[in-house]
Amino acid sequence: MAKKQFKTESKRMLDLMINSIYTNKEIFLRELISNASDAIDKLYFKSLTDDKIKIKKSDFKINISIDKDARTITVSDNGIGMTEEELDKNLGTIAKSGSLEFSQENENTESKKIDIIGQFGVGFYSAFMVADKVTVISHAYGSDSAFKWQSDGLDGYSISASERKEYGSDIIMHIKESTENENYDEFLESYRIQSLVKQYSDYIRFPIVMDMEKSKLKEGSEDEYETVIEPTTLNSMIPLWKKNKRSVKTEDYNKFYKDTFHDYEDPLKIIHQNAEGLVAYQALLYIPAKAEYNYYSKNYEKGLQLYSSGVKIMDKCADLLPDCFNFVKGVVDSEDLSLNISREMLQQDRQLKAIANGLEKKIKKELLDMLNKERENYEKFWKAFGLQIKYAIYSSYGMQRDMLEDLLLFTRASDSKLCSLKEYTNAMPEGQKYIYYAAGETVEKLNLLPQAEMVKNHGFDIFYLTDDVDEFLMTILHEFDGKEIRSISNGDLGLETESEREEKKEKEESNKDLLDFMKESLQDKVSEVILSSRLLSHPVCISTKGMMSIEMEKVLSQMPGNDNLPKTEKVLELNPSHEIFDKLTKIWEAGDKDKIKLYSDILYNQALLIEGISIPDPLEFSNEICKLMD
Ligand code: ADP
Ligand code: MG
Repeated sequence: MAKKQFKTESKRMLDLMINSIYTNKEIFLRELISNASDAIDKLYFKSLTDDKIKIKKSDFKINISIDKDARTITVSDNGIGMTEEELDKNLGTIAKSGSLEFSQENENTESKKIDIIGQFGVGFYSAFMVADKVTVISHAYGSDSAFKWQSDGLDGYSISASERKEYGSDIIMHIKESTENENYDEFLESYRIQSLVKQYSDYIRFPIVMDMEKSKLKEGSEDEYETVIEPTTLNSMIPLWKKNKRSVKTEDYNKFYKDTFHDYEDPLKIIHQNAEGLVAYQALLYIPAKAEYNYYSKNYEKGLQLYSSGVKIMDKCADLLPDCFNFVKGVVDSEDLSLNISREMLQQDRQLKAIANGLEKKIKKELLDMLNKERENYEKFWKAFGLQIKYAIYSSYGMQRDMLEDLLLFTRASDSKLCSLKEYTNAMPEGQKYIYYAAGETVEKLNLLPQAEMVKNHGFDIFYLTDDVDEFLMTILHEFDGKEIRSISNGDLGLETESEREEKKEKEESNKDLLDFMKESLQDKVSEVILSSRLLSHPVCISTKGMMSIEMEKVLSQMPGNDNLPKTEKVLELNPSHEIFDKLTKIWEAGDKDKIKLYSDILYNQALLIEGISIPDPLEFSNEICKLMD
């Protein structure tokens, strides 16, 4: 019989398993039981949608048997089974995308390899951590033949015709010999296997049965016992989400999360809901502590596992989660979903929509709770998934704002801490009209903006925005709590008193010729040169008019296909209380227009530099400075 080679990626994975020094080799059993349970789910689901298949739920089981002399453990199921092609495809190529990409990145260090095994469900090949030879005999449902897949490791596998009366699969593992350092014999002890099933697979919804020794009263006797061997169901079969909240330990919730959703960190939040409204359902949801490696990529698929009366209908039901909460992992189980519907029809299902609505509200409530009561965790959450919330508000054109705006956090100027809109407005001192923000690259740079100084000097806080989406988001929000949201670089900031305003107006009138000349000499680089009311100790700054800000222009121009963007209307603002302005007026009075032109240029370029914009002609700028040094 010809040997087939494993596909390259599978080989790498297999290599990892065979040579594993991972201490939790015992997880192989959990993996095989989970595959058996999946296979049963598939067949049971099929039977619900196909009247010709007559199988009762109670017919399904997973069997474990141990043969000490032959050194084998066999995990059997009466699930959907595999055809010859499926054996080849499913067991010859294992594209565990997540774990594999990860292991490629971290190929070289042994400790990293161990991490990988702990982090991801490693699947079928984990059998090779404890077995030197694995045989799979499988009979696909509806077929009349069975096939055998066999491999003793890296040099490949073979598939041949075999016998198996009923549909389903047997996974037969020939257990490695124990060595000085490694004890494999323990896996041939039924008590050890029983405790592993209890530990890792208790919630599996089909009976996991194994022959166990029991001591029983001898028949006809009152005090004489004998040892009998009886098939025994090892698991409680009650899924975690069906249990009473009070009876489940956090530890168990976390273990289930890590095993099922392949994370190695505990979740930030566990949400266990037993809803009894119009549609009854149980939900066990988790908020992960970190974004998955592909979370911010197109490949990421949102969704919750969907069960109906204990049968898994879908692994990732996307319709249960709104995009804004696409990071949530978990399970939903409802007796109220009609079972005889196809997955396509499920999308239109009214009950499903009702569940989705219920979950959305619940998740929001729990997040708000976290924000108010578990601040540290919430900020962790925000760092991992805040961007998603912001995009959700932005990309829904604000339709989702009512639902999500309370969850937003931004860095505030006063102490560089994260702060919600509500916290900001609650802390606003009397006389502050607006919510202020500044957008730029980093908090450090924003802190240096000349126009921030005056706002801070009034005792008003500023949100420092550093994500690309932030300023667009603020434009969409526009106000919060009845307070308008304003950029410190655009328009009136409401900082002046009436008399200050008058005074400035007069000054602007009397210096009109100077300002006009400066504008003229700067040509269309700026749309106006004005006297500023947002500057304290700095001589100049750039502000903008209209919708498009400097940061927005930066963000948009980095996107492909945005060549004909409307430009920002820049305004050069001069600080009338600064000595430089006095100097300008003196030069103007003396009639030295060339010098005014030179100064205008230099001031403009300086303002650009402060704003973090590269100047159009650095060489000329440097020449101009040199001229001043004469
Ligand atoms: P996963 O379970 O994450 O898909 P595994 O490596 O555990 O990955 O299994 C690979 C594939 O082999 C499964 O997706 C399934 O198609 C098939 N398979 C494994 N065990 C069984 C089984 N007992 N019955 C039917 N198919 C199985
Ligand atoms: Mg699996």
